[in-house]
Amino acid sequence: MSVPPRIGFIGLGIMGRAMARNLVKAGFQVSVYNRTRQRTTEFADLGCEVAATPRALAKACNVVITMVSDPAAMDAVLEGPEGVLSAFSGGNTLINMSTLSPEYTAALAKKCFTAGAGFLDCPVSGSKPAAESGALVILAGGEKKAVEKVSPILRAMGRGVIYAGPAPAGTALKLCVNLIVAQLTTALAEAAVLAEAQGIEPVLIFDALAENPALNCGYFGLKKENILKKDFTPAFPLKHMLKDARFMLAAAARRKIELPVTAAAEALMARAAASGYGDKDLSVILLNLAEPPGREF
Ligand code: NAP
Repeated sequence: MSVPPRIGFIGLGIMGRAMARNLVKAGFQVSVYNRTRQRTTEFADLGCEVAATPRALAKACNVVITMVSDPAAMDAVLEGPEGVLSAFSGGNTLINMSTLSPEYTAALAKKCFTAGAGFLDCPVSGSKPAAESGALVILAGGEKKAVEKVSPILRAMGRGVIYAGPAPAGTALKLCVNLIVAQLTTALAEAAVLAEAQGIEPVLIFDALAENPALNCGYFGLKKENILKKDFTPAFPLKHMLKDARFMLAAAARRKIELPVTAAAEALMARAAASGYGDKDLSVILLNLAEPPGREF
């Protein structure tokens, strides 16, 4: 990018906070907006502009990045008189990094083009630790040249960029990757519960996996402490994976294919959300497996 862009970052949650900090660290001029203003204080301290509304942010920046929860959150920051889209007049680019549905993403791409703005869907693979260390894998959808143009921005947040095709291909790929993460988490939780039920220490599962080069997956290490200590401090909140599983099932249904194991994982996550665990780490599904439905913890 010949002229360094001013980047407007919306959504300073678990992931967005770390990603925006890495943009600042890389030397980009960053402005921020977050619904809960308190979360912007550390960015003001770093010298970032804090915008009062998404529109004010988009007016001041040529690249806007969104990293919010879900489609409802996207609507809240994009639409209406104070929304990002109201400020686009041509030459802006919106990079969405939240995980949304492919349908929402395709419709958003059209809205941006109608408003004269470019659009890329760039959801991320990797959780809080990867966001903090700038080691996310970015799954990019959009015009290939446009992805290449913003590559210095993406590489400030991620170790790699996988180009998936025109939007919403990044989002479609993200759902496939998260399908595997959802099932790996369920598998770990089920194995731990089965081990305990048989009088086996669950730590032995992790020891056995780590000894076997074919099964020694980094993700198991990331979730080990959650499972063994039953510490469900969120890195990836359950409510977000539940949302993603529903996007996967809807995408499959539209194409008349079945995802029976994902459907079972969705049902398990829905049960955990109904138990009040939506804001806890995804690995919290362990509690609903270990205890009969309906019991209080
Ligand atoms: P998070 O910690 O829950 O943060 C969500 C962000 O969205 C916050 O900034 C929140 O603002 C904002 N938000 C929510 N509802 C809003 C609304 N109605 N209006 C305006 N802003 C709203 O989520 P996260 O873990 O960072 O995840 C963000 C996205 O990345 C999600 O789509 C998630 O699926 C995806 N993702 C997460 C992970 C992970 O491991 N955590 C990994 C890959 C992808 P407030 O501060 O005001 O609440």
